[in-house]
Order: sequence, then C-alpha cells, then structure tokens
Amino acid sequence: MQRDTLVFDLIRKELERQRHGIELIASENFTSLQVMQAMGNVMTNKYAEGYPGRRYYAGCEIVDQTEQLAIDRLKQIFGVAYANVQPHSGAQANAAVALAVLQPGDATLGLDLSMGGHLTHGSAVNYSGKLYQPHFYGVTKEEGLIDYEMLEAQARAVKPKLIYCGASAYSRDWDYARIRKVADEVGALVMADIAHPAGLIAKKLLNSPFEHCHFVTSTTHKTLRGPRGGVIMMHKDFENPWGLKDVKGNIRMMSNLLDMAVFPGIQGGPLQHVIAAKAVAFGEILSDEFLVYQQQVQKNAQAMAAAFVEKGYNIISGGTDNHLMLIDLRNKNISGKKAEQALVQADITANKNMVPFDDKSAFVTSGIRFGVPAITTRGMKEEHMQFVVNVIDNVLMNADDTSIINTVRKQVNEFMEQFILYPEMG
Ligand SMILES: *Cc1c(COP(=O)(O)O)cnc(C)c1O
Repeated sequence: MQRDTLVFDLIRKELERQRHGIELIASENFTSLQVMQAMGNVMTNKYAEGYPGRRYYAGCEIVDQTEQLAIDRLKQIFGVAYANVQPHSGAQANAAVALAVLQPGDATLGLDLSMGGHLTHGSAVNYSGKLYQPHFYGVTKEEGLIDYEMLEAQARAVKPKLIYCGASAYSRDWDYARIRKVADEVGALVMADIAHPAGLIAKKLLNSPFEHCHFVTSTTHKTLRGPRGGVIMMHKDFENPWGLKDVKGNIRMMSNLLDMAVFPGIQGGPLQHVIAAKAVAFGEILSDEFLVYQQQVQKNAQAMAAAFVEKGYNIISGGTDNHLMLIDLRNKNISGKKAEQALVQADITANKNMVPFDDKSAFVTSGIRFGVPAITTRGMKEEHMQFVVNVIDNVLMNADDTSIINTVRKQVNEFMEQFILYPEMG
C-alpha cells in the first residue's frame, strides 16, 4: 500500500500549528510522547468485548493485562474500589452512568449549560435532556459561585433521581459534602463529573468528590494529560438502591450495572490501543513529576488571573482555584466570538463561552475561557503569564487592526520557540 502522504502531511501541519501557537483551550493538553506512541499500536486490531478475564472473543490474554493495569493504576491514583476504563469519551462515561441509574423520564438535576455546565448534564440537544427530565441549578449573579441554595431548593422541588455536579467552565472548587446532604434528604444519587479538574484532584490540590459522590466520571485527556477517552469510578461499590435489575431480572451490585451499561449498554468493542495509552498516562500521573506539574498549573492559572484583573478584565467569581478562568468581556466591548476569531489570527487558541446571565447567544457569547494545562505542559511558569496576557490584551484591544495582529502573531511564534514540543519528532 502506498503511504497516504495527503493525510500524513496534514498531521505534520497540525504538529506545526500546535508548536507555533499559544494553546489556551482549557480542555486541551499535550500528552507525553510515550502516551501517543502507546495509542498508535497493534491493539487497535483486537476485538475484546467484555472485561478482563470475561471476554466474548478469543486471544485477549494480552489486552486483558493492559486493561487490568489501567484499572489498577486508576484505582491507585484516586483510592477507589471500582474503575471502568472503557468509555470512549467523557460523554460516553456520563451516558453509561445515566443508563445504569435512570429510567426514561426520570428527573435529573445539573448545572445549567449557560452557567458553565456540560451538555451531558441535561441539555435539550443532548440524549440527557431528551431521554430524562432535566432540571437545573445555576450560579449566583453577584459572585458567580455555585448557588447551593438554589440547588437544594430544586432538589426538594423536583426530587431528582440523579444530581450532576461538575462543570466545563467553572473556576472554583465544589462543596461535594453539601450536595450529598441534600441528595440523601431527597433520595437522589450524586455523580461528580470531574472531566476538567481531575488532574488537580488526583494530586489532592482540590476537594475530593469520592467519599461524597456515588459515581465519579472523567475524561482522560484534559488535566489528566492522557489519550482522548473517559473513565467511571466509585469510591466503594454498593447495592443499587432501587433494586434495578439486569435483563435477566437479577438485582445487581452497582459495579455490575455500570460495567453492563458501558458494554453492552452503549458501546461495543473497547479501544484497546487507547486503553494501553490510558495505562501509560495513569503511570505518569502516579509520579511525583505529575504533582509538580499540577502545582504549576494552579500557580500559572492564578498568575494569569491576576494579570487579567490588573488590566481591568472581569473574571467570573473574581479568580480561580483550578486550571481555568472565564472572562466576561462586556466591559471591554468585544464579544466572545470576535475575541476568539481575533486571537486565532495571532496563533492564540481559546474558546468563546457564555457567561452566567449572558445576554448574547451561545454562538456569539459575552465571554471567553482560558485554561493553562497545555501551556504548562509546554514548560511555562508564572513569569511567562504576563507575556501571554499582554499579547491577548493587545489583540482584543485591536481586534480590527490586522497589522497589529500580524505583529503579535510573530511575537507569539518567536516566544513559543523556547518551549519545544515533541523534539523527538524533528
Ligand atoms: C469535556 C467534558 C465532558 C465530555 O468529554 P468528551 O470526551 O468530549 O466527551 C464531559 N463533562 C464535562 C464536565 C466536560 O468538561
């Protein structure tokens, strides 16, 4: 077979794009070389429906070992009793928990998408809003903090079967204990979706959801810096509180119901090559180096937030506890959409985002979200945050001036040359 230069040339171009730019999309990161190498391997050829030791296909002795290694390492990272590493993505992990726990039409309660929540927590355009009866809580107008009183009032009013906590654009820590308290009062289960801050939680730099939440889901490619994928965990296994039955009519432990919800519930064959890469990434997370990395993520986010505040930018909630910040651009007279478009011209990638109580549509938005996991992996420290904020401010204040933006792009490209990405790739 002839080498497909068309595709490989594009992959090479994408590497150059990643090298030259400042990557501030909060959900992105750069895996290590060995994580990427583990992902492109012969295990993609293997069918392995089922779980280690109980597969529906022959020849799974080896992939059983990589999957078991991924499970064991993930359990060790978070100190949990149960882990499923097969979800293809964060959205799949959430779908599996919903499938295991909910019946169609059951009430759920999650953070409103327009307030920083995620599509899979009940949005109308997602299965979670179509199959179930979604209700929402928000953040407070003054402080931009989770409105726990609203959450509690909603929980008492709608009696959800499942409460989602976790967000995509929320820069503060969560009070999981408080959510569990009202959940117990109304008979709800709690799922924490730590897709964003999982890396910080892994190294105990943020509150742990595990003792308080029945289920914890995550992506593996955001702050965890692994391959694109999802996981489901439980601090401890438990009998399902509603006596939910499997297809044979047996009442099963939650771990069985979750395993069955992933496969055969929503997925077929697991991506064994990606699971191998998850195992490698989890090994990296167990190292002390990863603690240093996450500490730097937090320091960089705080330094960046301080530099934005200094320049008169309005950060929702006034700052950050984690790796990201959401900025309300209304006092700067630029929309999120325009900001995103101007920044990308200067090789700075970030995404527009609705801010709480936004008066613009999701397509335009009043806000922009910045995250530091990727630039921290590139090697940036607190002292580099001032440069990053300066160039962003320069672009946003001159969004229609192509010559200024071109000058900034050159500054950005030159700046990034000191942070070499994948030097092994030439
Ligand atoms: C990113 C994210 C997800 C979904 O992850 P995918 O891998 O893109 O499906 C789920 N929940 C939250 C809170 C997220 O931020």
